[in-house]
Amino acid sequence: SPRLEDKVSIVTGSSSGLGRAIALRYAEEGARVVCADLKPSARLPDLEDTNLETHELITQKGGKAIFVRTDVTSATDWKVAIQAAVTEYGRLDILVNNAGVGLEALRPPAQIHNTDEDLWDKTMTINSKSVFLGCKYAIGQMLAQAPHSSGDRGWIVNISSIMALIGGPSNPSYCASKGAVSSLTRQVALDYASSRIHVNAICPGYIQTAIFKETTARETTIEDLQRKHPFNGPGKPEDVARFAVVLASEDACWVTGTSMAIDGGYTA
Ligand code: NAD
Repeated sequence: SPRLEDKVSIVTGSSSGLGRAIALRYAEEGARVVCADLKPSARLPDLEDTNLETHELITQKGGKAIFVRTDVTSATDWKVAIQAAVTEYGRLDILVNNAGVGLEALRPPAQIHNTDEDLWDKTMTINSKSVFLGCKYAIGQMLAQAPHSSGDRGWIVNISSIMALIGGPSNPSYCASKGAVSSLTRQVALDYASSRIHVNAICPGYIQTAIFKETTARETTIEDLQRKHPFNGPGKPEDVARFAVVLASEDACWVTGTSMAIDGGYTA
């Protein structure tokens, strides 16, 4: 049977890349999905060869999803997104904090001595503060509602990066922002363990998305990436989405506070 049946989820950054794959997979596993992003349209032609918006694609396949315009750096927008989940589907069980940016990839290579303060602040706000806000408002809702039938109160899945575990070349603010995500994951997991809210992070290796296309051209070659990910080379969004299902399901019944590398052996 579907592994996320009767669960209500919010997936941020759902219009593109990993978020789109996670939203689609969650819906296939029976979850209702609030797709939260700045705009509903996918940034690149989809791997499934369609330009349908994520919530439209889910609906077309018989699943349940809505789009809620959300800037994850805005507390007001978080309250609206969570209220939409409650109004539309009655509760909130799962939050996937996936929205993020790799701004350094779009600029000339920067080590810390020539990193702009502005770029640092933007990266920390979009990648780290967003996770603080998401956890704050989602956990508020999870504590206020009746527990899920499993007895657990909620599942939070933060999308960090292998850059939280190792240093990457010329991207100090991105590495620091993802370090904060993994660190906050441990801290929040500890505080809400007795409330039975799971809080875990996934640290993906290189995945072929818009960010990937922007960075890899500059940083590295495809041969180099094949070598760095000894198990099958760089990944696909679905490789991360499948693990994101596990972390929001009963299979993660005793898992909390972890930051798991899903990286084809990059950090092995
Ligand atoms: P992507 O650029 O394809 O998608 C990111 C999505 O986030 C976009 O739809 C964008 O509109 C949305 N977004 C950006 N800022 C937002 C904001 N303020 N509010 C709401 N939505 C916002 O990127 P992706 O590769 O799918 O990355 C998703 C996550 O995975 C990011 O957190 C990224 O750091 C992480 N990650 C990616 C890789 C990779 O190789 N692609 C590796 C490790 C971690």
